Amino acid sequence: HAKQLGKDSFQLFTPQIGEALRLRLALERDLRAALQADDQLTLAYQPQYDAQRRIRGFEALARWRHPQRGWVSPAEFIPVAESSGLIVELGLATLALLRRDLDSWRASGLSCPLVAVNLSWEQCRKPQHRERFLQQLKTLQLGPADIEFELTESADFEDIDKPDSFVFTLQGLGYGLAIDDFGTGYSSLAYLRRIRCRKLKIDRLFVHGLSANPESRTLVESMVRVAHAMRMLVVAEGVELPDDEATLVAMGCDLMQGFGFCRPVPADGMPELLRPAAA
Ligand code: C2E
Ligand code: MG
Ligand code: MG
Ligand code: MG
Repeated sequence: HAKQLGKDSFQLFTPQIGEALRLRLALERDLRAALQADDQLTLAYQPQYDAQRRIRGFEALARWRHPQRGWVSPAEFIPVAESSGLIVELGLATLALLRRDLDSWRASGLSCPLVAVNLSWEQCRKPQHRERFLQQLKTLQLGPADIEFELTESADFEDIDKPDSFVFTLQGLGYGLAIDDFGTGYSSLAYLRRIRCRKLKIDRLFVHGLSANPESRTLVESMVRVAHAMRMLVVAEGVELPDDEATLVAMGCDLMQGFGFCRPVPADGMPELLRPAAA
C-alpha cells in the first residue's frame, strides 16, 4: 500500500514541481537576457516625506518589463536574482540606471535629494563582488551625498560582527545605511547598537492600520523610542491611511513612505516631484 501511495504522490506532485522549476529557470534565463538588453530594466522612485509633508528623499525600486509577460514584480524576480547570483549584475545595473536618471534630471536643472538603493546580502558576501560594487560607485561618481543603502534585516546580520563587514566598509566611506523591513527579521538590539545605522525602516506589517490597533501602536512607539535612543532616524513604510500618518507624526516618526503619500513613480514622472515648489 505504501508503495502505491508513494507512486501516487509521485504522479501527483512531480509534474507540478517540474512546472515550478521550469518557470523559475525561464525567469532566470529571461532576467539574464534583460540585463543584456538595456531597455527592460528601469527604476521607479518613491518619495519619503517628513512630518510637514516635504519630500526628503526617495527610494529607488527596480522595475522589469518582460517582453512577453509585461511587468514582473520585484517580489518575483529579486528572489530569483538572489538565488541565481544574478543579483550581483542587477545591483551594478541599478547603479548605472540611477546615474543615468540623475544626469537627465540634472540636465533639466533639477537636483534630487538623497536616493536610497536596496542592497541584497548576496551582493555583500564575496570580496570580488564587494570590490566590483565599490568600483561601480567610483566609476559612476555616486557618493554619500547622492545615495544611501537599504539592507533588509535578516539572519545574515550575524555577518556584521566580522570586522571586514561590507557594512562597515560602506560606512567608512561615508555612506548612510538603513535597516529595511525592521521587525520582520532577526536582528537583536545588540546588532542595532553595533552597526549604528542612520535609519530604521519599520515594516508596513506594523504600520498599516496602526492607529486603530493598540498592539501595533505600542510596538511602533517602542521602535521609535529605541531608534531615537540610538540616534537613528525612523522611517515608516507602507503608510496608506491619514489616521496612521497622524499617529506616526504624533509619535515622532521622522519620515514616511507609502501609497497614501505617493506610489513609486517612473523616472519621467520625477521632474514634477523635483521642482523647487514641490520640494
Ligand atoms: P522594500 O525595499 O521594502 O520596498 C518597499 C516595497 O513596498 C516596494 O515594493 C514598494 O512599492 C512597496 N510599497 C511602498 N508603499 C507601499 C504601501 O503603502 N502599501 C503597500 N502595500 N506597498 C507599498 P516593490 O517595488 O514591489 O519591491 C519589493 C521588494 O523588492 C523591495 O522591498 C526590495 O526588498 C526588493 N527590491 C526592489 N528593488 C530592488 C533592487 O533594486 N535591489 C534589491 N536588492 N532589491 C530590490
Ligand atoms: Mg527598501
Ligand atoms: Mg526589503
Ligand atoms: Mg521595506
